[in-house]
Amino acid sequence: MQRQPFPFFPDVEASARTGFAGNRIDRLAEARGKLPSLCVIAARSDAGLYLFQEDKALVTSGDGPLALHDIATAESLGFDPSAAILLGFDDGAPRLAARVTATGEVAGFRAVDLRSLAVEASLPAHDLGALAQARSLLNWHERHGFCSNCGARTAIAQAGYRRDCATCGAQHFPRTDPVVIMLVVDGDRCVLGRQYRFQAGVYSCLAGFVEPGETLEDAVRREISEEAGLRVGAVAYHASQPWPFPSSLMVGCFAEARSFDLVREVDELEDVRWFSRNEVAAMLADRHPEGFKVPPAMAIAHHLIEAYVSGGAPR
Ligand SMILES: [Zn+2]
Repeated sequence: MQRQPFPFFPDVEASARTGFAGNRIDRLAEARGKLPSLCVIAARSDAGLYLFQEDKALVTSGDGPLALHDIATAESLGFDPSAAILLGFDDGAPRLAARVTATGEVAGFRAVDLRSLAVEASLPAHDLGALAQARSLLNWHERHGFCSNCGARTAIAQAGYRRDCATCGAQHFPRTDPVVIMLVVDGDRCVLGRQYRFQAGVYSCLAGFVEPGETLEDAVRREISEEAGLRVGAVAYHASQPWPFPSSLMVGCFAEARSFDLVREVDELEDVRWFSRNEVAAMLADRHPEGFKVPPAMAIAHHLIEAYVSGGAPR
């Protein structure tokens, strides 16, 4: 086992337990400007492509689905190499992402949204991680065809990691939006809430986008004040999770409650309440008497709650 330089940290990084966290692609960012064209890279015999039909990943049907496809498969499904992006290299082999033009059901394949793929956990973690990278980048390209500085058309550069404007010279880079997601704790109880769109009985950690000019801690304190009406003191980072919907980084924290009367933000939350540690333990084990549940194991909220129940959270 690798030596743990911080003895107070767990052996397995908490982020590594979340869905989409297993990406092993070497991005070789420093080499992007010197690579041959993506058409040449895609034609290499060791090239592999992650393919999307509209917003869903194409995986082979049947047991042990495969998410990585060869160039011949990509071409048979309608693949345009000029619209592909290079994710990077896996053990030296290029890994690309592209949308295909094939519509409707494709024999031998399933088109599945990434949330469902992460929940069903039938793919290796490294494929789920690469698919998250692919979805965020493809989505970014499709929404940044025009320069936000001057309005002219932009062109792909750096193998898909930049878009350039030839008119004003601006360079545009893919962005990642930080979202804080937090478990507010008060000793042996914690706060969970329900958004209106959640499945019946599911309660989760509260969450919200970090705003310009905020620290992560400030964002946690503001979101909890807005959504639940609580004052929060100390905030401690626990784990992060890439969240490709379309391009967020979930930053999971524990937060110390300093006031205790919940005031729900009715536009966002259907319910928010205190749960005892025993109650959330029952929810994690799917044996809560009222059928309440927490999000599935792919979600960072699940791991915040699990760490709290097992005593890993700050006391
Ligand atoms: Zn421009």
